[in-house]
Amino acid sequence: MHSVEDEIAQRRKDVLARIAKAASSVGRQAGDITLTAVSKVQPDDRLNAMLSAGQRIFGENRVQEAQQHWSERRALYPDLKLRLIGPLQSNKAEDAVALFDVIETVDRPKIARTLAQAMEKLGRSPELLVQVNTGEEPQKSGIAPREADAFIQAIRTEFGLSPVGVMCIPPADEPAGPHFALLRKIADRNGLAQISAGMSNDFETAIRFGATHVRVGSALFGDRVN
Ligand SMILES: *Cc1c(COP(=O)(O)O)cnc(C)c1O
Repeated sequence: MHSVEDEIAQRRKDVLARIAKAASSVGRQAGDITLTAVSKVQPDDRLNAMLSAGQRIFGENRVQEAQQHWSERRALYPDLKLRLIGPLQSNKAEDAVALFDVIETVDRPKIARTLAQAMEKLGRSPELLVQVNTGEEPQKSGIAPREADAFIQAIRTEFGLSPVGVMCIPPADEPAGPHFALLRKIADRNGLAQISAGMSNDFETAIRFGATHVRVGSALFGDRVN
């Protein structure tokens, strides 16, 4: 009896209500927290339903999939904002700069330099966030926490970039709170306003620890189907 549209609209309403509740529990305004709908590996009918529900900010992991999802839809929704939340390879940097409004995964000098060159060439300047590997997991992208300050300084001075925030993905098997707290400290001491933290399982915790942007996939769209 329920359509994809109704289901998606209801899920979004629920997530927004949970965001508002978590915000107010720590004296923050719901409007200070931005919901990024993570649309990787989601079918077209759900993407369209999410747009119909009013969602305009989307996160994608891969440049190529993001192009497939959004290149045409973008013309229909001029207020769409696309955020790259997955690791970026140098050979995809130009495509990423051309498509995304925000790149959340700047994490090494080489990609910073390549992005700076692509931005110059295309005359387009997506907002940049520095990804921090707060759990220092070898398989995960991100700059190590103790190297973060120097890295942020270096990309400002060497490449002329002006990062606006930080993001992290805490280890799956640890409480996320301490990771969010560490990320917030790094943001604060480097004068960075955007804190991208929290996914379906822990976005309320992230909000309590200061996240300004939460990246929610399965809680919004339903499970990813491959
Ligand atoms: C997939 C993904 C998300 C969303 O994950 P859910 O658990 O489905 O909410 C958020 N952030 C990143 C970096 C992701 O890769």
